[in-house]
Amino acid sequence: MVEPHFVILGGGPAGCGAAYQLRRQEKGRVTLVEQSEVLGGNAGSFEVNGIHLDYGSHRLHSACDPEVLGDIQAMLGDDLAHRERRGRILLRGKYVQFPLRAKDLFLRLDRRFALGAGADMIRRAFVRTDTADDSFASVMLANLGRTICEHFYFPYARKIWGRPPESLSGIQARKRVTANSLSKLVKRLGSPLGGGRFYYPRRGFGQISEAYASQARQLGAEILTGWRVTGIRRNEDERLWKVEIRQENNSCLLSADHVWSTLPINVAAGLMAGAPPDVLSAKIEYRAMVLAYLELGRESFTNTDAHYFPEEHVRMTRLSEPKNYFGAPAQSNRTFLCAELPCSLSGDLWTMSDQEIGAVVAEDMRKAGLPLSAPPLQVFTKRLRQAYPIYTIGYEEPLHLLDAWMQSLPNFVTYGRQGLFAHDNTHHALFMAYCAVKCVKDGVFDAVQWRRYREEFATHVVED
Ligand SMILES: Cc1cc2nc3c(=O)[nH]c(=O)nc-3n(C[C@H](O)[C@H](O)[C@H](O)COP(=O)(O)OP(=O)(O)OC[C@H]3O[C@@H](n4cnc5c(N)ncnc54)[C@H](O)[C@@H]3O)c2cc1C
Repeated sequence: MVEPHFVILGGGPAGCGAAYQLRRQEKGRVTLVEQSEVLGGNAGSFEVNGIHLDYGSHRLHSACDPEVLGDIQAMLGDDLAHRERRGRILLRGKYVQFPLRAKDLFLRLDRRFALGAGADMIRRAFVRTDTADDSFASVMLANLGRTICEHFYFPYARKIWGRPPESLSGIQARKRVTANSLSKLVKRLGSPLGGGRFYYPRRGFGQISEAYASQARQLGAEILTGWRVTGIRRNEDERLWKVEIRQENNSCLLSADHVWSTLPINVAAGLMAGAPPDVLSAKIEYRAMVLAYLELGRESFTNTDAHYFPEEHVRMTRLSEPKNYFGAPAQSNRTFLCAELPCSLSGDLWTMSDQEIGAVVAEDMRKAGLPLSAPPLQVFTKRLRQAYPIYTIGYEEPLHLLDAWMQSLPNFVTYGRQGLFAHDNTHHALFMAYCAVKCVKDGVFDAVQWRRYREEFATHVVED
């Protein structure tokens, strides 16, 4: 039998994981196309002055599927640390440990907050609150009560997704918020570790995708970086897909039996010849993010991995210190901070210069009680166009249009965080890749089994 050719679009975890599994299980020939020079997508890394930096705070969570985790451990060996989180959250003017612990929530914060949260809990135990509608606001209010919502989740939602909590779908509460009910919150708060251990690679989070890609390459996969997918069409006579890719002035046409896309689902539809007008006009929205990196001329800023800022007087949502993630930082008299600023492509942050962004972050740090003692040695930014999917009320309809059409295409699979418009972690994206490969039998993709896996993916809950 002639080996089927799989062309994978996108070299984030979902793409690299599939390339490796397809080659490892000898399912066919593999070509992966990534537009960036670096693999890893939003979960990638880059190095500046000997320090590995990620696109915002990334950790591999312990909830990772055991098969996936086993492979990552085998590939990275001692390069994968397993350690306790050292996070802090600024709540009502005080820093408390994050993930939250019950004693901090009730004893360290001010009495009004503790009494309010406690009264909500008691009320919730005796009075059933029906949700007014299926919005993020209603689901969270019914489950957690007004105090925690108004001080913590609602401002955070407005910052992360840029929408009022009333206009966000209830699914955002169910999928995105691990502690989305009081019983879950209490369980989480009561756990001795606060859900706080994570895995992290020595050379930055991107080392995970790089390891998958490197193994795939060794097993014969062709990994093309710096090539952008610019068109996709189906040649029915040959029963083949044609994928047009471009690199500066070069272009090339790849023939594929199977196309597996991890591109944002609406972007992939836009590249597809013959996509119907209703599919092309189906509007789904992503939240963008500006990442600001500040290099400081000191060995360390704090020993905290990441500071979280749910409240709205500070524009950044998180400030991480990448050197602290692996746990045994390189000796150097420099450190970096990475500030995460969610934004929209039409907002002020997206178009600000690096210098202006640096000023926003410095002011935020001052307000958050973490002032810079000296100007940074340098400030630069990275910009993510698709950081988070935004589930506004009614988003299911346009998404279904896009997804149903993609699913009707022969030997075409859309998956991964962007491909399924899912607010998923890296371990979920890798799990999807493994599941897709399990669906390939004798060169044929089992769409029925894939639909069953898709139902399982819909139950994924995002870890922070
Ligand atoms: C700020 C932030 C923090 C996060 N923290 C965590 C965390 O702590 N733990 C965790 O597990 N997850 C975290 N995530 C989520 C994680 O980044 C994603 O789950 C992961 O990147 C998804 O992988 P993917 O392969 O599905 O998609 P992506 O990583 O988005 O990869 C898609 C790839 O497609 C490429 N592409 C797009 N268009 C084209 C084109 N036309 N041609 C060629 N290539 C193209 C892109 O360049 C990209 O490399 C975080 C995400 C963000 C934004």
